[in-house]
Amino acid sequence: MKHLVIIGNGIAGVTLARHVRKMSDRKITIVSSETEFFFSRTALMYVYMGHMKFEHTQPYENWFWAKNKIELVQDYVHTVLPEENKIQLSSGREIRYDDLVLATGSVPNKFGWKGQDLEGVQGLVSKQDLEQLEITAPNNKVCKRAVIIGGGLIGVELAEMLHSRHIPVTFLVREKGFWSGVLPQQDAQMISNHIIEHGIDLKHEEELDEIIDDGYGKVKGIKTKKGEVIECDMVGLCAGVRPRIEFLQNSGINLNRGILVDRHLKTNFKNVYAIGDCAEQLEPVGERKATEAVWYTGRMMGETLAQTLCGKPTKWNPGHWFNSAKFMDIEYQTYGWVWNKPKEDHAHYHWQDVDQKCGITVEYRISDREFIGINAFGIRMQHEVFNQWLDENKTVDHVIEHLNKACFNPEFYKRPFQEIKNDFKKNQKSLSI
Ligand SMILES: Cc1cc2nc3c(=O)[nH]c(=O)nc-3n(C[C@H](O)[C@H](O)[C@H](O)COP(=O)(O)OP(=O)(O)OC[C@H]3O[C@@H](n4cnc5c(N)ncnc54)[C@H](O)[C@@H]3O)c2cc1C
Repeated sequence: MKHLVIIGNGIAGVTLARHVRKMSDRKITIVSSETEFFFSRTALMYVYMGHMKFEHTQPYENWFWAKNKIELVQDYVHTVLPEENKIQLSSGREIRYDDLVLATGSVPNKFGWKGQDLEGVQGLVSKQDLEQLEITAPNNKVCKRAVIIGGGLIGVELAEMLHSRHIPVTFLVREKGFWSGVLPQQDAQMISNHIIEHGIDLKHEEELDEIIDDGYGKVKGIKTKKGEVIECDMVGLCAGVRPRIEFLQNSGINLNRGILVDRHLKTNFKNVYAIGDCAEQLEPVGERKATEAVWYTGRMMGETLAQTLCGKPTKWNPGHWFNSAKFMDIEYQTYGWVWNKPKEDHAHYHWQDVDQKCGITVEYRISDREFIGINAFGIRMQHEVFNQWLDENKTVDHVIEHLNKACFNPEFYKRPFQEIKNDFKKNQKSLSI
């Protein structure tokens, strides 16, 4: 029986294993070093915040894997030998495969900062990071201040986590607003204001210069590029992530930033594939990035590759871009493309509620008024409706007129939709004068 070996038991690896099992009875082994069982990485924050126990982040019961004849091996793969169709594990074990799938996820970026490896400096990606955080920052007596570097999705989660235990947080963001490499300035400003309202010391246009050693190998503070020194007991490195590929350097598998794959998610070896955060598209699809450290992308890649491995060669075709996250109390969803600055021949229409807890930004093409994408904050929208509107190339006018139909629970949001329609009319009139 053909043996499928998957390295990595995150959302990409386990989705693949589950879907292959639905379609075939081939032998499946998942090797992963972090934990024995799959857990939801996006829920790590709720464990620290006391909303759930770690076991609750595991969507499947422990017996599920044996019942579905998916062997789990908790071990680290230090070498992949694609010419010999085998992998070597830290325990000394070797496993032979017919097909190998690399689903090894990400590690936090480090940019060679002085002091980046001191005790008390960490990222937030793995279960081990969560355990370390419990040691470094269990409460505000042990950790009197934390400094977080990098204004992205993980940084704001870490800020919320530490804040929930009353640990004062300074948050250094290189740009003018939170995540403004991605969000239009008004959206970025709304989220920045929200973070500051929560009592986080958010500093815009500030960068880390160095992390200061207390003389015993532990962090004592940081210095910013503007020369400010901030005392702290913990530094959170949240300046993005990069694919976890260090163990593949001498394997012969083609690497760039990530593991290079074609549209069938295949590497330069005919029976070796890569999916999830670690995969880099040789030819990115449409406007998408070559690597995407996004939960839904990992899941969809797992589903796609399962088809190919079960005899139905299927190209990676992710459809319209969408994503969701939470910035403290504000839910964020995005469908289609909204760039931080409108592209050529595009415009943004922006609406915000006076209390600044909800808003939308819509990107559309000026010449034919085609709807390009939407950012929604604090209003939960329906994925299927936007998919359909994007498929049908609806105009911005259609989208604004029918926005309430895309709302998940319109009964709560009657007022905003009427307001948005009125405001949009005014906005368009002023543009045509
Ligand atoms: C705190 C946090 C919050 C997030 N929030 C969101 C969100 O709101 N929305 C969103 O879309 N995305 C979010 N993400 C990103 C999302 O979680 C990831 O994109 C997704 O989990 C990646 O899944 P994956 O299967 O590719 O890899 P992973 O889940 O990283 O799994 C890879 C596994 O492979 C193991 N591994 C790696 N190398 C080896 C080796 N050599 N030997 C053995 N095992 C190995 C790793 O230890 C790891 O367990 C968040 C991420 C974090 C960290």
